[in-house]
Amino acid sequence: MAKLLRDENLISLWEKFFLDHYKTEIENIVLSYPEKRSLYVDYWNVDRVDPSLAENLITNPYPTIYNAEEALKNIEVSTGERLRLHFRVFNLPDIHRIGIRKLRSVHLGKLIAIEGLVKKVTEVRPKLQIGAFQCQKCGAIIKLEQEEDIIKEPAECYEDQGGCGRSSSFKLLTSLSEFIDFQKVELQESPEGLRGGAQPERISVYLEDDLVGDIAPGDRVIVNGILHSHQRRRGTYRLTAFDKILSAISIEKQELAFEEVEVTEEDEKEILRVSKDPQIYEKIRKSIAPTIYGMEVEKDALTLQLFGGVAKNMPDGTRIRGDIHVLLVGDPGTAKSQMLTYISKLAPRSIYASGRASSAAGLTAAAVRDEFGEGHWTLEAGALVLADMGIAAIDEIDKMSDSDRSALHQAMEQQEISVAKAGINATLKSRCALLAAANPKLGRFDEYLPIHEQINMPPALLSRFDLIFSIIDKPNVDRDTNLATHILMAHKAGEVHEHISKSKKSTHKKSEEERLMQIVKPVFEPEFLRKYVAYAKRNVFPVLTEEAIETIKNYYVSLRASSEDSIPFTPRQLEAFVRLAEASARVRLSNKVTVEDAERAISIIDQYLRRVSLDRETGKFDIDIIATGISHTQQERMRAIMDIIRRICEESKDGNAARADIIKEAEIAGIETSKTEEILERLKRNGQIYEPVIGKYKITGY
Ligand code: ADP
Ligand code: MG
Repeated sequence: MAKLLRDENLISLWEKFFLDHYKTEIENIVLSYPEKRSLYVDYWNVDRVDPSLAENLITNPYPTIYNAEEALKNIEVSTGERLRLHFRVFNLPDIHRIGIRKLRSVHLGKLIAIEGLVKKVTEVRPKLQIGAFQCQKCGAIIKLEQEEDIIKEPAECYEDQGGCGRSSSFKLLTSLSEFIDFQKVELQESPEGLRGGAQPERISVYLEDDLVGDIAPGDRVIVNGILHSHQRRRGTYRLTAFDKILSAISIEKQELAFEEVEVTEEDEKEILRVSKDPQIYEKIRKSIAPTIYGMEVEKDALTLQLFGGVAKNMPDGTRIRGDIHVLLVGDPGTAKSQMLTYISKLAPRSIYASGRASSAAGLTAAAVRDEFGEGHWTLEAGALVLADMGIAAIDEIDKMSDSDRSALHQAMEQQEISVAKAGINATLKSRCALLAAANPKLGRFDEYLPIHEQINMPPALLSRFDLIFSIIDKPNVDRDTNLATHILMAHKAGEVHEHISKSKKSTHKKSEEERLMQIVKPVFEPEFLRKYVAYAKRNVFPVLTEEAIETIKNYYVSLRASSEDSIPFTPRQLEAFVRLAEASARVRLSNKVTVEDAERAISIIDQYLRRVSLDRETGKFDIDIIATGISHTQQERMRAIMDIIRRICEESKDGNAARADIIKEAEIAGIETSKTEEILERLKRNGQIYEPVIGKYKITGY
C-alpha cells in the first residue's frame, strides 16, 4: 500500500511548503524530539499558499498526509538529523465540520472535523504496527506493516526479505515487532446540538501514538480525522453493514466554557443594553418557565443558579466552588420535572438525566469492561461529568445507585470524581451546578418528618445542597384558583395559536392570540437568555463590597446568637450566602456584590430554612434537622433519655430498664410521655438500645 501512495511531485510540493513556512517550528521540535513528534499545521496556512493542496487534504487525505510525512522525513534540521514527524492538520473550514448525526457515506475517506463531548475512553494499549514474523520452515524473519484491526501474516516467506519464498506458517515475535500506543474514544453529540430531548448519537474515534492519553471523559473537543468504515462481525460472519470510525489526525480542545454559545457583537450590545434595566432581575426571573405558575422562590433560586457564583482558586491549591446546588423535593405533579427540563434547555452546557440512569457510568463515572473496549477497561463519564461547566439537571435523584450516592459527595464539593479500578486511575472534572429533584418515598411529602427520612438520601449529602425546597401541594382555594386559571389560559393560548396556524379559515384573531400569549410569554426569549448567561459567566467576576460583607456577617452572627441552644446554620451556609450574592450581582453584569445582592441571598436562604429546617417546637431554624435529621432539642432529649436508661439499668437488679420507669423518670425531667415513646422507638431503630425482654431496655454495648 505504501508504495502505491508515494507521489514524488506531492512530496516536493510539501517539502517546499515546510521549508518556506515551518522551518522554525520544525527546529523547535528537534529540541524535545522524540517526546514531541508532531508538526501541527493550520489548514488555512496551507490554503493561503496552495488552495488545491489544501483541497486535496480534505478530499484525498490518506495520500496527501502520507506524502506530507514523507516530505518531513527529507527535511534536514540544524543537528543534521532527519525527523520522523506526524503531520497534524487542524482548524478545518466550517463547512467540513460535520455533526455526528449528519455523517453519511459520502464522508467516508474524507478529512472532516467532528465536534462533541467525550463520553468514554479506553485504556491506552499497544497496537502492533510492524509485525516481525518468523518463518517456521527456514527461520527467516519477515517484517510486515499492519493496517487493519486483524493481524495480517505474510502470504509467503518473502525472498526480498531474505526468506525462502515458500508458503509457510509464521510465528509472531513480539520483541522484534514495533508497537504504537492506541486508544479508542467515544464521542457524543454536544447537548447544544440536540433538540427536543433526542438521544445523542455517538461515534468511535481511534487515537494513535502521541495523541493518546490526553483527553478525558467530559472534555469538549473537535476531532479532525479521516472517516472510515469498519466491518461489523457477528461471530465469524462478516456483515455488509459497516460501523463508522474516525481516525484522528488532530484534536482541538475547547478550553473556554460556553464557547458553544456564540455571542456576536450585536448580541453583546443588546446584552449590555438590557443589563442596565433596573428591572433586569425581575425580567430574567419571569423568563424562566413562564408556563409554570407560582414557584416564586424556586424561580429565584434557579435564576441565581443559572448565573452561579465565582469559583475561586486559592494559593494553597484548594478550589472553592462557585456553582449553586439546588434540590427540589415534593409532591408528585408539582412541575418539578417540568422545571428541570426547562432549565436544561435554557442553560448552556447542561444535561438532563434521570437518577435511574441506564448507562454504567450512572450520574458520576465508572470504569467498565464493555463491548466498546473489546474486553478491556473503559472509563465512562456520567451526567455530572458531561455537564462540566454547566448545569446537571437530575430528576428522581432519590433513585440513584449506591455507587453514585457515594461518589456524589466528592462530585458536589470538590467537583471531581475519582475512578481507580484496574488499569484506570483518573480524576474527572465535574464543575457543574446540580439541580436535582426528588420524590418522597411515601408518595406525599410529610412536613413533620425530616427530609432525609422521606427521600433516599443521607443527611450528609443533603447538607451539600445550597438550597433545598420542599414543594407541598395542599388544597388552597385562592392558590388553586390562580393556578387553574394560569394552566387553563396557557392551554387556551396554545389552542388558539394552533387553530390560527393550522386551520385555513380561522375565526380567531391574531390579536386574541397575542393577548392570551401575554401570560406565558417570557420577557426574554430562551435563545437570548442563554447568550446573556453565557456572556455573564464568561466576563463577569463580581467582588464582595465591604457593605455586603457586613450585611452577611451581621445576619449570620446575630441569627446564631439569638438561637441559644440550636444551630441555625454552619459555615457551609455562609458560603452559600456568598455564592448567591455573587450570582445576584452577575445577573446585572455587575462586578460589585452590593448590599442588595447580599439581602437577596439572605432572603432566599431564609425562605429555604423556614421550609425545611424550622424546628416546630421552638420556632427556630435548626440546621441539624438537615444535617442529622434531628433537631438540636431532640438530640438533647435523646441524650437525657439515654442517661435515664443508663441510671435505671445500673440501679436495677436484672440490669434492664423497664419502660414504665423510663417514662416516669422522663416525666420528672419534663419530657412528655409521647415524646419519650417516640425517642425509645428511634433509639431502638438506631441500634443504640435494644429490648432483651418485652418492655425492658438495655444500652447496646454497655
Ligand atoms: P413532578 O415532576 O413534580 O411530578 P411534572 O413536572 O411532571 O411533576 O408536572 C406534571 C404536570 O403538571 C406538568 O404538565 C406541569 O406542567 C403541570 N403543572 C404542575 N404544577 C404546575 C404549575 N404550578 N404551573 C403550571 N403547570 C403545572
Ligand atoms: Mg417528575
